[in-house]
Amino acid sequence: MSSISSHEAEHAAMVECAICGEATGILSIQEQEFAYRDGQHEVLLHANIPVISCQACEEAYTAPGAEEAQHEAVCHHLGRLAPVEIRALRTRLGVSQAKLAELTHIGIASIKRWEAGSHIQNASLDAKLRALGGGPQEFPIRSGFRFHFPPKPEACEAARRWRLRQDYSSMHSQRELEAA
Ligand SMILES: [Zn+2]
Repeated sequence: MSSISSHEAEHAAMVECAICGEATGILSIQEQEFAYRDGQHEVLLHANIPVISCQACEEAYTAPGAEEAQHEAVCHHLGRLAPVEIRALRTRLGVSQAKLAELTHIGIASIKRWEAGSHIQNASLDAKLRALGGGPQEFPIRSGFRFHFPPKPEACEAARRWRLRQDYSSMHSQRELEAA
């Protein structure tokens, strides 16, 4: 279900190969495309994952951090904070997992699961976390973020009428009439 394109081999460094034991493994970050099932739809997501390619035994395998990178891509697709962002939020607030649980009335077990990447928080609890961490400058809205409620037609119409009113002469004359 996944394909690895090897054109992006940044931050290359030699490491010990877990398969043959030689110090001939090259650690690189590669862009991986993987399928994710979002409700009824299957979407293709991208993640930059660490891969070790060995020059001696010619094996290639994902390095620690690959699953986390995929999980983060899923979180961002869903418009939710990733585990690393939740930990960063706690660091900014200077609170432990227990203190965050106390502040938010969210169960500590849930917070632990979100930070470990075994569960993803739902939209309302995600919003609760974001509200603690400040405005959009802290967490920019990502491509996965969606509005669930489209604006009402009458609100759109009112907005359109407002934009059309660019001739201020009528307002001016109205004021003169009132002054008279
Ligand atoms: Zn090897």
